[in-house]
Amino acid sequence: NNEEAAAKAAAVNADSGTPTIFDKIVAKEISSTVIYEDEKVLAFRDINPQAPVHVLIIPKLRDGLTMLGKAEAKHGEILGHLLYTAKIVAEKEGILDGFRVVINNGPDACQSVYHLHLHVLGGRQMKWPPG
Ligand code: 5GP
Repeated sequence: NNEEAAAKAAAVNADSGTPTIFDKIVAKEISSTVIYEDEKVLAFRDINPQAPVHVLIIPKLRDGLTMLGKAEAKHGEILGHLLYTAKIVAEKEGILDGFRVVINNGPDACQSVYHLHLHVLGGRQMKWPPG
């Protein structure tokens, strides 16, 4: 069940580096507005939204994916699943006509939480280039 999966995720993450606030969100120790969840990923609203729709999608098990730049071949399946989940979220949120998926990688990209996450943004006219 979800509680067992969350506990397992927290234990694995504890061995793979410093846990982040997202581990507590996965474990439901910190509440969030969940948009979609399965055994592998969690999608929840960003606490500081930059658009009318701003959802974060994370792997429940960080498994070394502090950032996209740490990805290895073994992560291919979860990376694909995260991206497919972005489509599920966009569909649920009614923004399939226009949405943006962002991954901030590292300090130069202003990554602030070192547990890989996709931002799904939409519900307004997006601008290009991004800041
Ligand atoms: P980053 O800057 O690392 O790409 O994105 C991290 C995101 O996590 C930010 O947009 C920030 O607002 C969000 N965030 C940080 N702490 C929390 C939290 O406790 N709850 C939620 N829902 N979002 C958070």
